[in-house]
Amino acid sequence: MANAPTMASFPSLESALKHFFGYDDFRYYQRTIIEQALKGQDVLVIMPTGGGKSLCYQLPALLRLGVTIVVSPLIALMQDQVRSLKDNGIAATFLNSSLTFAEARERESALLNGDVKLLYLAPERLMSPNFWPLLERLQQTVGIASFAIDEAHCVSEWGHDFRPEYRQLFQLKQQLPQVPMIALTATATERVRQDISQQLRLKEPQVFVSGFNRQNLHYEVKPKTKQSYDHVLKLVKQQPGSGIIYCLSRKRVNEISFRLKQDGISALPYHAGLSDKERQENQEQFIRDDVRIIVATIAFGMGINKPDVRFVIHYDLPRTIESYYQESGRAGRDGDPANCTVFFSYADVATVEYLINQKPDEQEQRIARQQLRHVINYAESAICRRKIQLSYFGESFPGDCKNCDNCLNPVPMEDWTIESQKFLSCVARCQERFGMNHVIDVLRGSRKKRVLDLGHDRLSTYGIGQDHSVDEWRQLCRSLLHQELLSETTDGYSVLKLNGGSWQVLKKEIPVNIHVIKRPEPEAKAKANDVVQLSGDEALLLEQLRQLRKRLADEQSVPPYVVFADASLRQMAQQRPITTAAFSAISGVGKRKLEQYGKTFTETIEVFCRSHNLTPNTVAADAAAATTSSSSSSELTATQLTTHGLFQQGLSLSEIAIERGLRLGTIIDHMEHLMAANYEVDLGRLVSPERQVPIFEAIEKVGAHSLRAIREELGDTYDYNEIRLVRAAWEGKK
Ligand code: ADP
Ligand code: ZN
Repeated sequence: MANAPTMASFPSLESALKHFFGYDDFRYYQRTIIEQALKGQDVLVIMPTGGGKSLCYQLPALLRLGVTIVVSPLIALMQDQVRSLKDNGIAATFLNSSLTFAEARERESALLNGDVKLLYLAPERLMSPNFWPLLERLQQTVGIASFAIDEAHCVSEWGHDFRPEYRQLFQLKQQLPQVPMIALTATATERVRQDISQQLRLKEPQVFVSGFNRQNLHYEVKPKTKQSYDHVLKLVKQQPGSGIIYCLSRKRVNEISFRLKQDGISALPYHAGLSDKERQENQEQFIRDDVRIIVATIAFGMGINKPDVRFVIHYDLPRTIESYYQESGRAGRDGDPANCTVFFSYADVATVEYLINQKPDEQEQRIARQQLRHVINYAESAICRRKIQLSYFGESFPGDCKNCDNCLNPVPMEDWTIESQKFLSCVARCQERFGMNHVIDVLRGSRKKRVLDLGHDRLSTYGIGQDHSVDEWRQLCRSLLHQELLSETTDGYSVLKLNGGSWQVLKKEIPVNIHVIKRPEPEAKAKANDVVQLSGDEALLLEQLRQLRKRLADEQSVPPYVVFADASLRQMAQQRPITTAAFSAISGVGKRKLEQYGKTFTETIEVFCRSHNLTPNTVAADAAAATTSSSSSSELTATQLTTHGLFQQGLSLSEIAIERGLRLGTIIDHMEHLMAANYEVDLGRLVSPERQVPIFEAIEKVGAHSLRAIREELGDTYDYNEIRLVRAAWEGKK
């Protein structure tokens, strides 16, 4: 049996994480989940796409004796995972129908030799009677460490991808009750979660639900006009990296991909009208960065494992909020900033309404109308987009996310009480029997036949609203509906009805404020999450590193992100590591990647530095060397220096934590080291001067060694973080 490392080989879970995957810190609940899994608990993990679910079973698999069996629904997903693991030097393999008999035999004997830590399988294979003997032999020889059920929502009929084969998985617990199980999914609904637990017969599972907020995604909605294609083109040109553009019809997909190509953008179509082979090829080209943009119908998505998609554009209206969440969620899985844009027009709403009316079943129509209403709410709303999405999943979010168009460019409010009274009294005069468009016609004094036939030109409200455009009245009407100051029938006719709120407005009891129609020109402010700006030289170096990554990836027939994530390349461009030690301090560089790529990358960086007259970052090099031998408090690691760079650029500590995907505590820790090492840090930005003084005084009085003693001296109104920061500054000054 191969001499694999186990938990005892590592001083901490963090060091194992760095060794195998090259990361410095766990995300969200990863650490707790891994601890539970290592204890042999059954665990149910619910984490949004890109949250880092895989690591939750992969790291325990590497730290335990025996093989971990991973159930995965799609061959493409399995191959992808195995490819990434192998690139990290991890013994993973899969068994599926794509293998020849001889290949499968070879893998089976490697398994029985104990040479494999992670085995990926489709559920039908695992549950087939032919497979049981192998499973039993495995259990008796090398041992089965755990079962991991990926995309576990496939077990539930209530989920969006029900797979009958998943239903058989309950037999695993019957046959091998002592083997712990971990189930993972991104599904948001409670019902599916319960179903997973029951169907898989999880034993007193620990359930971890991490929030559905995808902080790194920037959301925006843009009006769709005749010039929308130009708008899309502009977006595509502005944003670097890969992108997906979703359209509703095949015709639109073909049109947009064709026009993009004509405009010099590398783009390919993807829809159900293409042959399997074409679809497969287009997808593969996208994943390997041979083509930058995929224009697709919603047929594209499931099974696409590309973490570095930088933007997702919905050229047409999404169908539901849930589908929008899933589709836009394909952006930024690597945690780097990414952009999600919806183009919205009422003409599209009318098309969708028309399609809904074609549905034969009334219940179905009603559900579809309600879903459409939610999508329109999302698109029209002037409040935080994130808040609307998350409330749809039952998660309360305070708003002010600083990373959506409404939060970055708030639409000002205006008092429209008088207009509201005019509108509502017109609804009353029309006897609450008409919809929005008719009421607006009357208000604006239309000579339409219908208005005249009904005698509505004789109403007292006829023509009193000519001072506003049709669009402005519509906006007001929608806003009244949003604010529940007016109701609308939901039987498909959308007749306006007055409610209690309407009467309060009419009786002048409450004012009405609405968001003004014309937005100020957006893009005025920078996004909170914009990637750190690189200098000219850094950007050049980054481009060279990208090319190198692409070449190495092509040589091994893997997608570029398997070699290194974008964030790792960016750090290399900023820190310019040229020694092994400095290189290994880059996030994403584990033991295997260091061996495999360290030399090539550091050489490229060194050549670049020489030809551009740049000094390679020797501080980082020395500091990294110091941490690998013995870390001394006055020498700094690359990750601490990255934090310093971001701080100097004006980011707050919590922004740095978000930007880097690290915990706030870790960032404070970095700042402590930086200040203690006498790095330039403006303490005033961290702790206000009035609060600094008493802390300094307390330190002088009771000494610096015990945080608790300092706090006892100061009292409860001071927290440990601010004390830590001031103490570090004090130590730096010594
Ligand atoms: P999910 O399966 O939840 O959609 P993945 O497991 O594919 O997400 O992880 C998404 C991305 O995040 C991957 O590129 C992965 O390497 C990265 N990742 C996971 N955990 C960490 C971590 N602790 N630090 C940095 N990156 C991580
Ligand atoms: Zn927001």
